[in-house]
Amino acid sequence: QSHAHAAASQTLGNSNALGAAPVAGDAPFYAAQGSECALFAHCFDQQLPLLIKGPTGCGKTRFVEHMAARLARPLITVSCHDDLSAADLVGRHLIGQGNTVWADGPLTRAVREGAILYLDEVVEARKDTTVVLHPLADDRRLLPIERTGELLKAPPEFMLVISYNPGYQNLLKGLKPSTRQRFTALALDYPAPAVERAILEREGHASPALAARLVQLAQALRRLTDHDLEETASTRLLVMAARLVASGLPLREACRAAVVEALTDDTETLLALNEVVRAVV
Ligand code: ADP
Repeated sequence: QSHAHAAASQTLGNSNALGAAPVAGDAPFYAAQGSECALFAHCFDQQLPLLIKGPTGCGKTRFVEHMAARLARPLITVSCHDDLSAADLVGRHLIGQGNTVWADGPLTRAVREGAILYLDEVVEARKDTTVVLHPLADDRRLLPIERTGELLKAPPEFMLVISYNPGYQNLLKGLKPSTRQRFTALALDYPAPAVERAILEREGHASPALAARLVQLAQALRRLTDHDLEETASTRLLVMAARLVASGLPLREACRAAVVEALTDDTETLLALNEVVRAVV
């Protein structure tokens, strides 16, 4: 298709529609932190949108993938970035061979298909995106498409899920109270040690002993990093370290590559983090 189309789909980030509804029971592995699966299912039943807060790499995306599969709904994920506009979500007219064609954006597609739409890191998106989310997120459940004059009513199966990382870099951006108050909210954090060990064994092919060591390392790093780092050792980074070890890399090297270097570029902080690695693993 046209150049315009290629450009338009690029700006969507990684929006991926699974064509058909997945089969329930075949859900990707997710180790629950508490009762979040029940909360998600109740929100779906009650047609309530859900806001998931939590640090990067703590399992938000996996949780949504897991629940979409369990509820047998297609999932459309959009990674929000600072250039993402309302038109990127809703759709736009594309210029083809001498004519213009309307192309649904991921939000519109999700409403039409009765999918679960997951907007990852929603605070990154441009402010005008909240305007299209508001009537969808409250009990109207409407998506007005200004450019085509359409007014879509979301079917009961449509669910809007957004996430953001309330770390200090986002304090200023935040979400407007008028937006937040339309969503039920769930706070996820790094999983408790036993849960995190189970994740590393399953996702990182770690032995129980390796999983225990990596979780110990994470706890030590999480204790000290509050003021030095924007982000700390996430479950995602631990999974990567475990995989490197499973593949034959020595443990400390794996921790340096997957965890320490991922967290900072600052020489002094690197030294401090490597010190922790030497002390713990
Ligand atoms: P987030 O969306 O919060 O940034 P992800 O959901 O992408 O984090 O999680 C990163 C990776 O960590 C996943 O791909 C998965 O391997 C692992 N992970 C984290 N938490 C869990 C969990 N509770 N159950 C299973 N895997 C998890």
